Amino acid sequence: MKDKIVELSMGGGGRKMDELIEFIRSHFSLQQVKDGVGIESLDDGATFPTPKESELVLTTDGHTVDPIFFTGGNIGSLAIAGTINDVCVMGAKPTAMTSALIIEEGFKMSDLSLILKSMADMCQELNVPIIAGDTKVMPKGTIDKIAIVTTGFGVIEGKAIYDSGAKPGDKVITTGPIGDHGVALLAHREGLNLQTELKSDVAPVYSLIKSVIETGKVTAMKDPTRGGLSGVLNEFASKSEVSIWINEENVPIRPAVVAVSEILGLDPYHISCEGKAIMTVKPESAEEILQMLKNHPLGKDAAIIGEVKEEKPGYVIIETSIGGHRILEKPIGEPIPRVC
Ligand code: MG
Repeated sequence: MKDKIVELSMGGGGRKMDELIEFIRSHFSLQQVKDGVGIESLDDGATFPTPKESELVLTTDGHTVDPIFFTGGNIGSLAIAGTINDVCVMGAKPTAMTSALIIEEGFKMSDLSLILKSMADMCQELNVPIIAGDTKVMPKGTIDKIAIVTTGFGVIEGKAIYDSGAKPGDKVITTGPIGDHGVALLAHREGLNLQTELKSDVAPVYSLIKSVIETGKVTAMKDPTRGGLSGVLNEFASKSEVSIWINEENVPIRPAVVAVSEILGLDPYHISCEGKAIMTVKPESAEEILQMLKNHPLGKDAAIIGEVKEEKPGYVIIETSIGGHRILEKPIGEPIPRVC
């Protein structure tokens, strides 16, 4: 099967389709939640038991990234991490996923296999099964290679964490350097030949933030995907009706990200990440939470980057290294299209 290509007839619902679905399913070892109906039943839907009186989180995301293979990951790892991270930053434990693949006729089966393997590996690492799925094939030229739509489910075990929860006095923490994903993709697309390696940070943040969530001291949290750090902070500021003051010197950004952003005229604060979380935390717990993050491989460059204040609600203000101030607004459009 791996030396073949995806044919239009494989989306047709007949025997050819069964072969394609079998090929896809064969990549995944986790196909159901314990005691639930999973993908192996090929029923009309999946089921999963949930703890009584618990609150569920549900999120969905379509992935249309270009290129589909990039340094640090591919559309498959992105489709898992992107969706699961949205579940986690709500304060939930990820439980199950669904995945819909929309594939262009002529797509190499070997490339599909690489993408599926990345998805399966990440699901395994998270111990989250894909319990339902859909596969469509579109005629050549009507879609650009492949699009993946994933839905994630999670269970809130403590209390949900909303964008609106930041309070004056809270500290702002990033779990690591910003802008890696967007800049890595753009450098790839623009054919920039860089001396330093620029790699997407695509990764699930669950194991990194799990213990931090359990402290109960996180007041707001978000993953800085489209819109980057600036998008996240502006959402916190407007929904929590507070201002956020960021100390520019403390924001971790890799030198290569700064360099490429300068070449291409981009603001790193607007560029997407796919393996980070930005949170506001109770001030008395900030140092302890920072240490918890730093003890995890994905959080070794975590930093306290600012604080929440009551004055000027709705604004994000950057305190620059030369002692000035500037307002950080949300990007007007998407500075880099098709990053997720
Ligand atoms: Mg999000």
